[in-house]
Amino acid sequence: MKEQPKKEMHYGKEVWVNPTTESLRRSECLCLNCDNLKPGQSDNCHIAQSLYQICVTENIALAVTRCPLFKPK
Ligand code: SF4
Repeated sequence: MKEQPKKEMHYGKEVWVNPTTESLRRSECLCLNCDNLKPGQSDNCHIAQSLYQICVTENIALAVTRCPLFKPK
């Protein structure tokens, strides 16, 4: 790893964070740059909705790097 994981508080709980991937997540995650991501809407991507659910349940964060359904904005 480029940088050692560190502890931070997120959503009221202490979690381990990878500073390198965390800093890239918003700009590099396919979902966060995809036209199929429509949070809160009935036509939101079903894959992204599943990933969101596991993130909320387990207090994790993901950066998607592969997807067959990616649609550029
Ligand atoms: S199509 Fe793929 S990249 Fe786009 S929101 Fe869904 S899971 Fe993410």
